[in-house]
Amino acid sequence: MQVPPFSLSQQLADLGPELDEAVLRVLRSGQYIGGSEIKSFETAFAATVGSTHAVGCNSGTDALILALRALGIGAGDEVITASFSFFATAEAISAVGAKPVFVDVDPLTYLIDLERIEAAITSASKAVMPVHLFGRPVDMTRLMAIAARHKLRVVEDCAQATGASWNGRPVGSWGDIGCFSFFPTKNLGGAGDAGAVTCNDSGLAQHMRELAVHGMPRRYLHTELGYNSRLDALQAAVLNVKLPRLNQWVERRRTIAQRYREALEDLPGLLLPDASAGHGHGWNQFVVRVTVCPNDASSSATHSPCEFGLPSSHCRDWLKQNLQEQGVNTIIYYPIPIHRQPAYAEQHCSSCLPVTEQLCSEVLSLPIFPELTNEQQEQVISVLRSLLIQNAPLNSQTCSVAA
Ligand SMILES: *Cc1c(COP(=O)(O)O)cnc(C)c1O
Repeated sequence: MQVPPFSLSQQLADLGPELDEAVLRVLRSGQYIGGSEIKSFETAFAATVGSTHAVGCNSGTDALILALRALGIGAGDEVITASFSFFATAEAISAVGAKPVFVDVDPLTYLIDLERIEAAITSASKAVMPVHLFGRPVDMTRLMAIAARHKLRVVEDCAQATGASWNGRPVGSWGDIGCFSFFPTKNLGGAGDAGAVTCNDSGLAQHMRELAVHGMPRRYLHTELGYNSRLDALQAAVLNVKLPRLNQWVERRRTIAQRYREALEDLPGLLLPDASAGHGHGWNQFVVRVTVCPNDASSSATHSPCEFGLPSSHCRDWLKQNLQEQGVNTIIYYPIPIHRQPAYAEQHCSSCLPVTEQLCSEVLSLPIFPELTNEQQEQVISVLRSLLIQNAPLNSQTCSVAA
């Protein structure tokens, strides 16, 4: 049996008639821009996040850009964030003319290391952008205290964490603005690109609404340069069908994560994602660290060269390949950290973010999505167990040394 890393087919089968009806209703209404689907989604989404306002937009990337613009962040400003994230986190900061300043991550949580934020603050720092990566919320109690002490604005990158909460309060309701993506693989996915921003300040909400429509407070009056970044009515209709299922889907993700944790915790050379108390993890991804290597000398002959100045990913790549040969398909989020990307060549530095670089060479995302069946999950578990037990206890040192 093949186990995909992600699949929509079962969800489409379950929601089929309801989705068809919603999409056809919009198609036949001729109301493609603005209208009641968007209003009702924004109202329901704000309630889900526990914010006063939600404004739909074109993507999660645009949500970040709209947030930064509305907070007046631009040329000459610095925004503190993590390099261990999807590229769009930093790309949005650069898109408004500001500079991303990368802080290393915590090796247990994979999230921005709160102990290191203050050392990165300069007179140009204007904001901090915590990323709730893989659905795991940043400790927002501590992050908000640091931001308040240094008068930094807070833009939450909630793209992977829809439905997650810190201390019982949803992500996206803590900072000045929460930014969400409804890209199809996220916890709440549209049928294409879509996003939203949330906040409790009506002035900020109105500003973002205008920025998303060419900086236009009323028809054909343009008070500033904005974007064409509306949420489509068709996407809103799809999201209106899916939003009432969000909580049950996140619960299912939690059940899958719990099962992985129980079944894999004793395996040598595999570090499981932290799941300590205090947060409601959204489990958009279940990301393990592979620190065990193949137990035969011949395979180290194919030792991969160290690309992009990163430690060798030989052990992880070996495991990924072997899993795939037995039908278990995994993904690497993310193989190259943002500061090592060619597009950020000016930010390259040697060993400046060692934890981030180590993680990029070790991480592997196991299949997790609400419709993953128990049988599929048990296949992932048994294949993984047999591969790692056969190869234990092993030369794990060769994996963890930065080249
Ligand atoms: C997906 C994602 C984004 C961008 O969202 P899009 O809707 O794809 O533009 C931003 N940040 C993170 C962490 C993401 O995972």
